[in-house]
This record gives sequence, C-alpha cells and structure tokens, in this order.
Amino acid sequence: MASAKIINPATGEKIEEYDRISASEASEKVKQAGKAYRSWKKTSFAERSELMNKLADEFETHKETLARLATREMGKIIEQSRKEIEKCAKICRYYAEHAEGFLSEEAVETEAEKSYVAFQPMGVILAVMPWNFPFYQVIRFAAPALMAGNTGVLKHASNVQGCAFALEDAFRKAGFPEGIFTNLNVSSGDVKEVIEHPDVVAVTLTGSDPAGRSVASIAGASLKKTVMELGGSDAYIVLDDVDLEEATDLATFGRLQNNGQTCIAAKRFVVLNGIYDKFLDLFTKKMKAAKMGDPMDESTYYGPMARVDLRDEIHEQVKKSITQGARLVIGGAVPEGKGAYYPATILAEVEPGMEAFDNELFGPVASVIRADDEDHAVKLANTSQFGLGSGVMTGNRERGEKIALQLEAGSSFVNKLVVSDPRLPFGGIKNSGYGRELSGYGIREFVNIKSVWIA
Ligand code: NAP
Repeated sequence: MASAKIINPATGEKIEEYDRISASEASEKVKQAGKAYRSWKKTSFAERSELMNKLADEFETHKETLARLATREMGKIIEQSRKEIEKCAKICRYYAEHAEGFLSEEAVETEAEKSYVAFQPMGVILAVMPWNFPFYQVIRFAAPALMAGNTGVLKHASNVQGCAFALEDAFRKAGFPEGIFTNLNVSSGDVKEVIEHPDVVAVTLTGSDPAGRSVASIAGASLKKTVMELGGSDAYIVLDDVDLEEATDLATFGRLQNNGQTCIAAKRFVVLNGIYDKFLDLFTKKMKAAKMGDPMDESTYYGPMARVDLRDEIHEQVKKSITQGARLVIGGAVPEGKGAYYPATILAEVEPGMEAFDNELFGPVASVIRADDEDHAVKLANTSQFGLGSGVMTGNRERGEKIALQLEAGSSFVNKLVVSDPRLPFGGIKNSGYGRELSGYGIREFVNIKSVWIA
C-alpha cells in the first residue's frame, strides 16, 4: 500500500508521510459513517447547530496552527491561510444559523387536505477535494451537508493529508459523534470502490476536469447524484472607461492570490483596444513589483506553487503558448534553487487557439487579450470550454451590469474579483461543472426533496 508523502513546496523537503488505508479499510469506515447517519439524521437542528458552532470555535481557537499547516503543505502565503481558516468558521456559523430555515417544509396549495415539500437527509456523502484551499473546500461541502442530517467521508488531495487529519480532529474535538465526518486516506485509484459502496448515496468533487469526468461517470453508473466544481479560465473584461490604477491592482491581486491557484481567479484579461497598451504597461509594473518568496514571511506577496510537477506543467503551457504566437512580457523562466516557485508571468496578444486561451493556467500566469470593442470582448470572454466566474471592470456600473448578464459563467462580478460568499450560490456551467454549493441552493443539493400529500 503506497503512502501519501507530503513535501513542503517552499523548500522541497519531506514534512510527513501518511500510510494510506486499503479499499477494504475504507469500506469499513464508510459502513461506520452509514451507521452514524442512522442516528445523526434523527438529531434536531438545534443539536447540529450547537456542534457546528463549536467547530467554528475550533477554527478560531487554532487559527494560527491550522494556517501554518496549510502553508507548509501547499505553499500559500500565511496571511491568506489565516483568512481561509476564518472563512471556515464563518461558513460553519452561517449554516448553524440558517440550515433550519433553508430546509423547513414548504406548504403547497393542492386539492389535498394538506400538501407540502419536505427536505430530508440522504445518507453518506463522499467528498473528493483539492489541495488549493485545503480547509475551506472541505467545509464548503461539510457544513451544509452535515447540517442537513447527512454524514460525510472525505477523500482529500494526497499532498494535504495533514490538513485532512486536522479537519477530522477538529470535528472530533468539537464534539461530533464518531462517523459523522471521516477522513479516508485512500489513493485516487480506490475512490471507485468508495463511490460504489452501498452506504454512499452521492458524491461531490472539487478538482480538475479529468478527475470530475472519471468520478461522475463511476457515480453515474451507480445512479448516484453528483455535484461537480471543476476548473475555470475566468475572463475579466476591462472597458475603456475604467480607472486603470484600480483595475490593475485588482488584476495583480486576482492573478497572484493563492499563488495563482484559485479556480475563480482572473485568468484571461480581455482588454479594449483603446486602453490595451496602458493597461499592459501598468499591469506589468505591478506584477514585476510583487514579491515572490517564503510563504511564511509576512512580507511575501506570493509563494511557490503547490507541487513541482504542477509548476513544470504550467511552464510547458507557457512555452507552448509562446510558440503559438503569444508574446512573453515578463516571467516565463523556472528559477534556480529548491521549491516549486514560478515567477509572475504575463503573456500578451493571446488569442483563441493558443494554450493560454483555450486551457486553464493554474498558476501565476496572466493572459492579456486584445478586443476591438465591447461586443468582441464579450465574444472572446465566452469563447471558452469553461464557465465558472467572470468579471467586468468599468467606470460605469450600468454598462458593467449589462455585460455581466451576457457572460456565460456561474457568476459575474462588476468591479470586484469573483469571491465565494456563503449567502450566494457558487458553481459553474460548461466544463466548469454543475450543481451549486453555498447558500440555500447548496444545502438542497444533498437532500431528498420529498412531496407529501395528506388526502
Ligand atoms: P485534481 O488533480 O483533479 O485533484 C482533485 C481531487 O481529486 C484530489 O483529491 C485527487 O486526489 C482526486 N483525483 C484526481 N484524479 C482522480 C480520479 N481519477 N479519481 C478519483 N479521484 C481523483 O485537482 P487539483 O490539482 O487538486 O486541483 C486543481 C483543479 O481544481 C483546478 O482545475 C481548479 O480550477 C479546480 N478547482 C475548482 C474549484 C471549484 O470550486 N470549481 C475550486 C478549487 C479548485 P490525488 O491528490 O490523490 O490525486
């Protein structure tokens, strides 16, 4: 049985090695989660809320320790890791407060004496999760799913198993009974058996398009529901009436936060011809000035990528884009030394048909695209296999809103980077996936929406 080796991407040093459990051990844990479900589903919202608020306390009390763990395992700068832990606490408290309201019965007028819709839990939900927000992605699934009365089993990314065990520990310390939330340290090859386990009723996956296709097809063959939160290549349209200082500040932060590895990061900047050169000049200055370095150092703007293989992959994508005609403005060279570092990189004159346009660049690389006018900009933004987030930067809100509604994406933000907010649904269209997380829409993904008719 292989183990999950955790390498610090800032130094290249091994931090820890976790033995994987076998498929049969995983099956036993899923069985326990099924058993736990049968009593958990009978608990009241008040009981679940109390535990969920205690989980929020755990995140708040141990913020620094958990943040340092995330930074050590996947390389994001320490301040952003702290924000991630704060966000976990916020989501726990949000669902502790609102789950009951989201799932309360809805009366429907019919010929019946009484008819209504009830929202009932389903069973054990499997979550397959990525490393880029190792705590937040899991809580985004677990807080609503557990508040709805389900139990959860987690297959986390191999490189953040320390975070996975820390999560399991936090649930335990908060007082959740055994089996309500379980970390399965299985390899991705063993996920099929977990999906097919009779106690698993549904699967949620956040990750890449290939992982999504594989997991969704296995679940589909067993007729189990899935929610897919996949990759993106979000376009941000920059209009000619924009405040260039503000737009380039947003662009720089948007492309470099989380070391460039955010699904909803601004990745393709579609800039109107009239301001293209000025935008590119200022954006280049700011990307150049951003300090790359040790993610534990408070003055660092962005750290290494999460793994050396991912860094090498993006470097290949940059080289391919250049041979296809993109112009390298800054960056584009693998630095000497240890770690998975890749410098802030800008590719200009990017066009459809190039790697940087057609595929997701999951690292600190920005593609700048020239548009003749507004309609052309919308057309370019929508020319994508993905449809996760999108943005418009403009001095005119109404103009921005009009364009936002034409963008093919799960969310469109005007003069703000796309962010997830527990009050709003989150998810994508096209190859970015289907289903929604967060808000009242998210919690209703994993419930039995049941019609009740009393004649
Ligand atoms: P990934 O390689 O797809 O891995 C995601 C998870 O799936 C990991 O736990 C991985 O396990 C597992 N996995 C991979 N292949 C699998 C397979 N064939 N069967 C079962 N499980 C499999 O993605 P990543 O590199 O961690 O994350 C980056 C991607 O996630 C990007 O495309 C990003 O845009 C996307 N993402 C989307 C959202 C969203 O909300 N839409 C949010 C964050 C990230 P191992 O680690 O063991 O391989």
